[in-house]
Amino acid sequence: MNLHEYQSKQLLHEAGVPAAEGVVVRSVGEVAGALEKIGGDKWVVKVQVHAGGRGKAGGVKLVDSAAEAEEFARRWLGQKMTTYQSGGDGLPVNAVLIEPCTDIERELYLAAILDRDTRRIVIMASAEGGVEIEAVAARDPEAIKRSAVDLIAGPMPWQGRELAHQLGLSPAQGRQMGDIVVRLVNLMLRRDLTLIEINPLVVTGAGDLFCLDAKFNVDEGALHRQAGLVDMRDKTQEDEREMHAAEWSLNYVALDGSIGCMVNGAGLAMATMDMIQINGGAPANFLDVGGGTTSERVTEAFKIILSDQAVRVILINIFGGIVRCDLIAEGVLKAIADVGVGLPVVVRLQGNRHQQGLKMIADGAPSSAEIYTEVDLQRAAERCVELAGEKRT
Ligand code: GDP
Ligand code: MN
Repeated sequence: MNLHEYQSKQLLHEAGVPAAEGVVVRSVGEVAGALEKIGGDKWVVKVQVHAGGRGKAGGVKLVDSAAEAEEFARRWLGQKMTTYQSGGDGLPVNAVLIEPCTDIERELYLAAILDRDTRRIVIMASAEGGVEIEAVAARDPEAIKRSAVDLIAGPMPWQGRELAHQLGLSPAQGRQMGDIVVRLVNLMLRRDLTLIEINPLVVTGAGDLFCLDAKFNVDEGALHRQAGLVDMRDKTQEDEREMHAAEWSLNYVALDGSIGCMVNGAGLAMATMDMIQINGGAPANFLDVGGGTTSERVTEAFKIILSDQAVRVILINIFGGIVRCDLIAEGVLKAIADVGVGLPVVVRLQGNRHQQGLKMIADGAPSSAEIYTEVDLQRAAERCVELAGEKRT
């Protein structure tokens, strides 16, 4: 679960890490009051969406009048913003963060991530901040300095000082970096964060380190013990289909292809996606309907897959282990009757009572529905790719 910049900064303040004190507005009418509250005569206005790259997309602006700030709020509130990280449709803008403008001397990069390979938190820093760090990492991996935290000893100030030295900062800035790094990693542990990204961490005109942007990710598996963070969830920023799926305990991840997949078991779902790809097609989603599949859940899964306009064919791939294929077939028929599937559907059943299941589908499907049954996954995948291609022309 991602947090908004303003929420991440609230946590930074709580942890004693230097970041701007801003005000969030949700309507144009609140802008003038916010500027007055902040004071000064120069501000930065920032669109709040769960995506970086806002600056390049016009979502971050320096302003020096209420009229300019209001114009920005009017331009963005209620609109969608698309950045290189947001996905094609963009994300709705419901809030704008207003902060006093910070005087910048240098932009750096600082992050802490949970590294599953080494089972440690790794701090990363670079002298090239404010830009796409992915590009820096691709062009010059050496430009990103790393320091792994020993989780028994905890984060140490020297780790920040060493990184600061590698970035060419002064000893005084090194001491600030030591303090910031320790506070960030402790915050990460206390709040079950998997990612903290400060891009940019800046050197201000006065020579101090200061967090200008903040992007946090919370471990969803730990939300049960992070009551305060649960309230920060902004569902408007999350994929609608993924949310719908979560309500029905379906594991769904949206992808870019045209073949909608309904599979039981995460491993089989991944193998199915591979088979589609090997045969020259592209899956529209990952979807694990789980072990105890009911006809209600099959129906919901159908609805979710069909709400994706890019889907041209549906592949149902069920292995009957504990679950019986004839019951799945019943669910599929019911779902087709309820939802009215206007796309070709390829059903591959294998395992517990698959013959009965396939026969039920072959006999029971309405004549208007275009349904193909298969026992072999390779053939099912081939057929899907073929059908998806036919529809395109
Ligand atoms: P992002 O593009 O979504 O990562 O948004 P950021 O919050 O990182 O802002 C983008 C860029 O705007 C930063 O890299 C800075 O160059 C600039 N910027 C943001 N806030 C300020 C500020 O307070 N003062 C100045 N001078 N520039 C700022
Ligand atoms: Mn940024």
